[in-house]
Order: sequence, then C-alpha cells, then structure tokens
Amino acid sequence: MRTQLTSYCAWLFAGDLSAFGGPATDEAVAGHIRAEQMSLVLGYSVGIMLANACNAAVLAVALWHSPDWKFALAWAVTVAGAAIVFGLQSHASRRVTKPQFVSRRAMHRLVRNAFVLGVAWGIVPVAFFANAATGGQLVITCLCSGILAGGALAFATIPIAAIAFTTPIFIGIAICLSRDGDPAYVLMAVLVLVYGSVLLRAVFVNSFAFARRVMRQIEAERTVRQDPLTQLPNRFAFNETLDAALKRLALSGEEFAVLLLDLDRFKEVNDKFGHPAGDEFLVQVASRLQRCTRAAEHVARIGGDEFALVMANLARPEDALAIAERFAAAFAEPFLIAGCEIVGATSVGIVLAPRDGNAPLDIMKNADAALYRAKKAGPGTVCFFEEADDKASRDRKALQADLEGAIARDEFFLVFQPFLDLDDNRITGFEALLRWQHPSRGLVPPSKFIPIAEETGLIHEIGEWVIRRACATLADWPEEIRVAVNFSAAQFHNAGILQTIVQALADAKVAPHRLEIEITESMLLSKYGSAASILNALLELGATVALDDFGTGFSSLTYLRKLPFSRIKIDQSFIRDMLVQPDCAAIVKSVIGLARDLRIGVVAEGVETADQLEYLRETQCDEVQGYLISRPVSAEQVLALLDTKKFRATYAA
Ligand code: C2E
Ligand code: MG
Ligand code: MG
Repeated sequence: MRTQLTSYCAWLFAGDLSAFGGPATDEAVAGHIRAEQMSLVLGYSVGIMLANACNAAVLAVALWHSPDWKFALAWAVTVAGAAIVFGLQSHASRRVTKPQFVSRRAMHRLVRNAFVLGVAWGIVPVAFFANAATGGQLVITCLCSGILAGGALAFATIPIAAIAFTTPIFIGIAICLSRDGDPAYVLMAVLVLVYGSVLLRAVFVNSFAFARRVMRQIEAERTVRQDPLTQLPNRFAFNETLDAALKRLALSGEEFAVLLLDLDRFKEVNDKFGHPAGDEFLVQVASRLQRCTRAAEHVARIGGDEFALVMANLARPEDALAIAERFAAAFAEPFLIAGCEIVGATSVGIVLAPRDGNAPLDIMKNADAALYRAKKAGPGTVCFFEEADDKASRDRKALQADLEGAIARDEFFLVFQPFLDLDDNRITGFEALLRWQHPSRGLVPPSKFIPIAEETGLIHEIGEWVIRRACATLADWPEEIRVAVNFSAAQFHNAGILQTIVQALADAKVAPHRLEIEITESMLLSKYGSAASILNALLELGATVALDDFGTGFSSLTYLRKLPFSRIKIDQSFIRDMLVQPDCAAIVKSVIGLARDLRIGVVAEGVETADQLEYLRETQCDEVQGYLISRPVSAEQVLALLDTKKFRATYAA
C-alpha cells in the first residue's frame, strides 16, 4: 500500500498522469509538457504573488485589534516579502527564451515552493481564526477560500503542485474547524472537503486535457519542423534556430557559427542506384552527421542534399572548424546500401556571426558562398567565409543575370575547330564551341559561363540554341563533313532534348549521321540511367556519340562497354605530356589500341606541336584536333579552311 502510494506520488511528480486516467508520455514528451506547464505558471506568477502580498496585508489590517496582531503582522510581512521576491524572480525568468524541456528537478522545486506557500496560508486558520473577532473570521474565511481557488487555478495544469499548495490549507481549515465542537463547523468541514475534492478532480481533468493538447501540439510541430525522411529538423526549424541565435546575439552578444553542408555527388548516387538507395544514403548520412555534433545541437536537413547546423555560444572559431572536420571525416567509411558500398563526401562552408553577418539572409548567402568555394576545392573540403567569397558570389550572380538575356540579345555565337583525319589528311568535321560576346565583359570563355548555366538550368535553353545553330551551319557544309556538339549532364534531365535534336536536324535538312554529340565521362556518372536511354535513341536516330575528355573521369571502361560510343576523344592533358612523360604516352597508346579493338574511332585533343602529331600518326590515331591544325574558327572561315590546298599539303604525311 505504502509503496503504491509512493509510486503514485512519483508519477505525479514526474508529470505522468497515465495512472490517473491521463495520457501516457515518454520522458521527452513529459519534459516538454513540464516546460509548457511551467511557462503557464510563470505567466500567472507575478499576478498571483501580488495577490498573495495584498492578501497578507489585508489579513494584517483585519487582525490589527486581535490579541495575535503581532504574530499576524510578522506573518504578513514574511509572506508579503517572500511573495514579492518570488514574483520578481519569476518575472526575470520569463524574459529568457521558453525552454523546450524542463527537468523533473525543476518541477520538484516548483512543487516545493507551492507547498511552502500553502503551509504559510495553512497556518492562518490554525493560528488566527479562534481569537479573531467575527469580522476577522470573515476575512480569514474569504481569504482562505480565495487563496484556495486562486491556487487551484494557478496550478490547474499541475496536479501535484495543486495538491502541494492546497493540502496544507485544507488541513489548516480542518484543524481550525474541528477544534470547536459546534456541529455547524463539522458540516462546514464536510463542505470544505467536498469543495476540495471537486477542485482537485477539476485540476486532474484539466491537466489531462492540457497534456493531450500539448502532445497534439508536439506532434503538429514535429510534422511542421521535422524532415520526414531523416527525422532531422527541416529548413523551417533551422530558420527558427537561426533566428533564436540571432536574438541571443542581439541581447547578450552570444556569438555563433553556421555550418552549411552539401553532399558531393549525391545526385550520382540517386541516378546510379535509384531513389530508394538515395533515400537510404541520406538517412545514413543524417545519422552520421548527427553523431558529430554537440549534444544539444541538431543538424538540420534544409534541402535535398543540403544540411546545416547552428553552433550556439561559440567560444572560438576553431570549435566550428573541429565540428566541420568531423562532418567531413564522417564520410571516411563507405556507406553500405542495398549490398553496395557507396563512397560519399561533404563540403562544408562556415560562417561566423556577427563577423560575417548578423541577418539571416546575409548569413545564409555567405555560408553559400563559402560552401561554393569549398565544393570547387574538391570533395571533403571545409572553408570559412572570406570577403572575397562575397565578391565572387556577387560576380557570379551578376554573370548569371547577364546570361539570362544573352540569347535574346543575340550575344552567343559558335566557333568551329576541325578534326583532321590522319589517314588521308582530310578534314572530317568540326567541333562547335560556344562563345559569348558580352557588350562590356568582352569574350567570356565557356569554362566561366557553362557551369553557371548548368547550375541555373539556363543550359537547356542555351543547349537548344547551340544544337539549332550548329545544325543550321552544317547545312552549308559539304555532305561528308560532320559537326560535333558538346552536351552538359544537365541537358539529359530534359526529356524533350531528343525532340529538339530531331527538330533541329529536320529544320536544317541535314542527315542525322552528320551530327555527333560529345559527352564527358563525369556526365555519364551523374546521369547514367537517363543517359543510356537517350544515347541509344540518338544512335537509333542515326546520330553518333563521342566520349569527350577521355581519361579524366572514372569507370570509363565500364561505360565504353555498355554505351554505344562511336568515338573516344583522348583528353588534351595526356597529349600535352605524352612526349615528356612515359606514363602519358603509355595511356595514349593503350587508348588508341583499345579504340581499335572496340572498333570505334579515336581523336587526340589539343595537338599543338608537329612532334605530337608525328607521334600520333605513328601510333595510328584516327583523327587529331588542336591549335596546330587550326584554332577554332568562325562559320565563314570553315568553308575557306576546307578549300585550303596549302592546309592539305602541310599535314600530308
Ligand atoms: P572540350 O569539348 O574538351 O573542347 C576543347 C577545348 O579545348 C576548347 O576550349 C578548345 O578551344 C580547346 N582547345 C582545342 N585545341 C586546343 C589546343 O591545341 N590547346 C589547348 N590548350 N586548347 C585547345 P573552349 O572552347 O574554351 O571550351 C572549353 C569547354 O567548354 C569544352 O571542352 C566543352 O566542354 C565546353 N563547351 C564549349 N562549348 C560548349 C557548348 O556548346 N555546350 C556545352 N555544354 N559545353 C561547351
Ligand atoms: Mg568537346
Ligand atoms: Mg575535350
């Protein structure tokens, strides 16, 4: 019986009302409920403490002529003083941000305080009622009822606190009434008991409803603030954490850091292994990242493969760096997904507030800029924001804005670089290379604007323009000459790309076999699934496909076997070094051999010297391309180049 009572008390103390018919909670939810209860009580506390102080003063005045006036005065001064101190304390604690979790110990303190106050009021009927005049007795009765009702109201959501507060008062009243043998008093004692139990019952019912409401609220908040896949806080929750950190920065100068993460090559995982594997990858990444943070901080998933962390109360920038490096190191081990080992990596951009900004937009913009630099530096890189990033990011934005209207303003044009066949020293075709002539920037190289066009999706529109223009230009060239057009990975996202190619060929009235599409290995990695079907469709159409920059990516050999390439283009870095570095020469030789065995064509890119040409001729490379043969030329110059007798003479064996 005693142990049962003890456990009921323990449940009540913990705020677990399931044993009394209330909802069942776990400790995390109970802590959240306690936080809500506490905040409600703190909300009332100033008024209640003021009422306590006033009531104490009223009692002192009412008992002024009683024989116990000295004791009453001392009591009133003590209670009023304590009430004012409590009131001020709770007012101060309300200013601090509302906590999400309140410990049992904090609740115990609240219950203890309620009990002390209850005892103070419980003393009143016992100590002063008997000797008071009728008026004084009336005042005591009114005050005790008022205090009981007020206390029950204040602690209406916390049964244990309501019990702790009201019980001493009920006991005080019971002692006071039972001292006199008058049956009317006994009746009153019964009435008080009935009131008490009704009051307590009401407190319980109310607290059940309150707990259920908070639980529903927690659930609703969870769905609004939580990423359903990884269970991490989402962008909304992250923004709230950032806002709270900014508030603390403004209030108390508490510095913080924001770490922005972007997974390297996540899209490849998604494309290569499918979306379920991509999801599983994200879940595993999320749990590894969360293990790297400090206990109270949570990594948020703020985008597809973007994660972020607010590191509050930052003592030194090195602490942020340490966590960022832990994030990067968390990818050291490969991820095991559906029986496959997947190697991942993350880049991290770090922003320090207030040094790098004190507004959410600035902070995120700068974090983005730092992350951009980190990503460019390679997988697993961590970068602090620097002023130069800001400039780089503004430059990028400006370039992007200019790029948006470039087609409409007719600022693009194509140049063409020939392929020379080494067997009969004849030009077999040209590679179309895009140029952007900007009115104030001048000639912008593709290496500068293609990546931005890819990032922003403008590449679709630009790519379409290139295809149409290349086909239209091809129409004026001799039948046996082909044109090669470079493709970006992003263009394979666009299901309409095939239709565009078909239309461009039809409009220009050129045979599909005269069009070659150049794609890079890295593109195959990122869009393997859709690339395969589009490449096959292209082949069916009659167009050909070349594998550009061969040797700079990975897994090339696998793709060579699986995909219908007509040609391999050996990257210019190998050609540049093949006469000085034996390993480059070996690679060039073996790629040429490989192409021959696979019965596909091979082109050497970036041929700049006669010696290189000679070597390639010896190793029986099919075609060459490079400044030695010709720099990229305008469409008009193409025909002239094809006519040049001198040209043929120069490169004849
Ligand atoms: P790429 O397809 O590998 O093109 C070859 C690049 O090497 C061209 O640079 C060309 O001008 C340059 N080049 C040719 N011969 C030599 C040589 O002997 N020595 C040296 N050092 N360089 C040589 P460019 O025109 O600046 O293009 C760079 C890259 O931009 C291209 O590499 C291609 O990936 C991309 N690109 C160009 N036009 C387009 C386009 O229309 N669409 C897409 N998606 N990408 C394009
Ligand atoms: Mg190319
Ligand atoms: Mg190339």
